[in-house]
Amino acid sequence: MTTPDPRRLQADIPAHVDACADALTNMFTFLDDELQAMHADDIRLHLAACEPCMDAFELETAIREAVRRSCAAQAPKSLRVRITQIRIQTD
Ligand SMILES: [Zn+2]
Repeated sequence: MTTPDPRRLQADIPAHVDACADALTNMFTFLDDELQAMHADDIRLHLAACEPCMDAFELETAIREAVRRSCAAQAPKSLRVRITQIRIQTD
């Protein structure tokens, strides 16, 4: 039995797989605009050419938008009053 040469295994990984791993690993940082400009440009180029990664980014963007919208909604005033009264009773 032979031990595989790690350098050979790395060489067998297609470049696009590395680019996908980089894009997905840095997805949250990219979406938060916290990547350096050059790295963000690399990811933008990859997304333009890679449908699976673009799908993943679009899904995350949609989830973020849904969370943002739901956090902006305000409970009805009657519910807020009832919650305040419960908090006062427990203090
Ligand atoms: Zn990709």
